[in-house]
Amino acid sequence: AAKQTGRDGYHFYDAALSSELRQRLMLEQQLRMAIRPGADLGLQLYLQPKVDLRCESVVGAEVLLRWHHPEKGMISPADFIPLAEESRLIIELDRWVFQRSCELLRDWQRAGRPVPSISINLSARQLQEPDLVDWCLDQIKIFGLQPAMLELEITETAFINLSDQVLEQLHALKLAGFHLALDDFGTGYSSLTYLRRLPLDVVKIDRSFVADLCQDPRAATLLKGVMRLLDEMGFGVVAEGIETADQSNLLQRIRCQLGQGFLYHRPMPVGSFVELLDKAPPASAS
Ligand code: C2E
Ligand code: MG
Ligand code: MG
Ligand code: MG
Repeated sequence: AAKQTGRDGYHFYDAALSSELRQRLMLEQQLRMAIRPGADLGLQLYLQPKVDLRCESVVGAEVLLRWHHPEKGMISPADFIPLAEESRLIIELDRWVFQRSCELLRDWQRAGRPVPSISINLSARQLQEPDLVDWCLDQIKIFGLQPAMLELEITETAFINLSDQVLEQLHALKLAGFHLALDDFGTGYSSLTYLRRLPLDVVKIDRSFVADLCQDPRAATLLKGVMRLLDEMGFGVVAEGIETADQSNLLQRIRCQLGQGFLYHRPMPVGSFVELLDKAPPASAS
């Protein structure tokens, strides 16, 4: 009897697994279709303004992907990015975001708008593509931009297995003129090593740090020391996930000047971001 149950259990598990697998395959297929030229299947760029904490003026924006799925409604990037990362789809998806972002900058430039600096998230897998730097430079040329208009954010955990090849790609991107940002700083295991070895312009303090800041005196002390370190090493610093005025005040007291968070602006559609800029033109990023 026990064996029977076991087998039933197994069958049940099997069926559940295959249905989940079917779901994932379907989503993956739909994502693939959504990035085809001319497709309009709900994939959209959102922009989250980056502000100067002292005066709240907008100094730039981070591009965050949104998927309004035709049947399932809004699907979070926290769900579909990991799915895309299981295959080469993430390479194409990130490149789609890169191209759409270049398009935006080109349009703003053509319209004679002051063009704010834009950050794009790149998946770790992208850094393993031998043609990455050439591809990025080609796009920049096609859209008539300069590399320095773009900041590429790479999450800290991408560097867990930091190979010479990845390091070379980063140096080549930097040499080409792109700005590089270390995203989610403080969530990986050897953050200090990355600071020493990666050719970074900007470090983004993970929002888990910011969240603890006002409750935990040790978190505040730690961040204060980290801020000094980053400053002395010459990095720009952006705090992520600022939700309260207390957090913002404390960050300013420890000399963190730039940040993003719901306190200021949530990620918004491109149209809303343009309206925001029209009301208050961007300050130049420091
Ligand atoms: P991330 O790059 O660290 O982006 C910051 C995330 O924090 C965003 O989540 C943003 O909406 C959220 N956030 C901003 N301010 C606040 C706040 O005050 N409170 C809270 N609780 N959250 C805040 P989102 O848009 O869901 O994106 C999640 C992650 O998905 C991103 O983390 C990034 O790693 C990834 N992602 C998004 N778009 C892309 C993309 O185009 N390519 C790649 N490779 N990854 C992307
Ligand atoms: Mg990011
Ligand atoms: Mg982040
Ligand atoms: Mg994050």
